[in-house]
Order: sequence, then C-alpha cells, then structure tokens
Amino acid sequence: MSDTPKDKNSTGLGTFYAHLEDGQLVMEPYCSCGNQLDENYNCDSCGKHSQCTDILCEDQATLKLVEKYIRSSPKFRNFNALLGKKKSAKD
Ligand SMILES: [Zn+2]
Repeated sequence: MSDTPKDKNSTGLGTFYAHLEDGQLVMEPYCSCGNQLDENYNCDSCGKHSQCTDILCEDQATLKLVEKYIRSSPKFRNFNALLGKKKSAKD
C-alpha cells in the first residue's frame, strides 16, 4: 500500500496531492521536483511537462473519496490512489 515509486525519469512524472476542503475534493498537481504545476501541468521551476497519475491523499476520508472517483469516473480510471502526506516543497 505504501510503496511509493520514486521514479526520477525525465519524462516528468508528477503527483496529485489531494485533500478535502469543506467536503470538496481538492487536487493539486505537483512536479517531481516538488514545485506545484500549473493548470497545463507545466513546471515553472524545472520546465518539465508532467503527467500525474498518482493521487496522494492526506487522510483516509480523502482516500475513500478518491477511490470512489476512480471506480465511478472514466476520467479517473488511470489514476492510483495512495495515502500519504505531501512532502514539503523546496523553494
Ligand atoms: Zn519541476
């Protein structure tokens, strides 16, 4: 469950960090370098275009909701839900 692959390939593999805000699922895409990606999944910091397929959920409630989306929504079909905390961004 908790084996997070530490891929460091240059294609840019990002991660969504998910949490709940007033019961709403909020997902923020982050680059593998730790910088937050913009809406097109481009990184300001390292210039990589990243693909995000892992969704790191900060708690069980978030994980449950994300897993529900993965099961029910075709848009989420290719995502993996993981439980874990966001690593602090290095500025
Ligand atoms: Zn980056």
